[in-house]
Amino acid sequence: MYNIVLFGPPGAGKGTQSEKLIQKYGLTHLSTGDLFRKHLGEGTELGLLAKKYMNEGHLVPDEVVIRMVEEKINETKNTEGFIFDGFPRTTAQAEALDEMLAHNGLSISGMIALDVPEETLKIRIKERGKTSNRVDDQDDEKINTRIKVYLDETLPVADYYSKQGKFQKINGVGEIEQIFKDITSVIDSY
Ligand code: AMP
Repeated sequence: MYNIVLFGPPGAGKGTQSEKLIQKYGLTHLSTGDLFRKHLGEGTELGLLAKKYMNEGHLVPDEVVIRMVEEKINETKNTEGFIFDGFPRTTAQAEALDEMLAHNGLSISGMIALDVPEETLKIRIKERGKTSNRVDDQDDEKINTRIKVYLDETLPVADYYSKQGKFQKINGVGEIEQIFKDITSVIDSY
């Protein structure tokens, strides 16, 4: 079983690569951003709560995210493992994830970080914004906030896994297929 954290700033290509990885390895894709957007679309209480944070590019509070992930893990049966995409985004979330998995006799295989320069991220997010219908993909201020939040609050999560000897960084710029190949060689080494 593989439990992989796909890591990187907004616009790094985590969603694109996750889609390919779930097909190759039969993994369950757990994207907290996608889950929140689903709640938002369905107008649930959770969606309404998350909306004000998401639209400004801020993080949804840890306890809300953790509860949602826990539910998703518990309701998923018969999987080859999980790809965590956009989660954990804080050290508290990473600790909670370790606990949840340990509870089920599982652990994280490793974190794979997609390395992409800031200028490229901004270009990619704006391009995605033309079709994504995401309020947070549209204007410079929100995009800048998301990148800043990533640098301030999320980057320490890389240290968390690094200390456990579970961190690997790969180049996230170039052909999608080449990046995919680089990711799969890390996974195949687990
Ligand atoms: P994403 O699709 O991963 O870029 O997430 C979109 C937005 O959802 C983020 O900007 C946050 O507002 C919220 N979000 C997604 N995942 C998390 C998380 N792990 N912790 C806190 N907020 C999150």
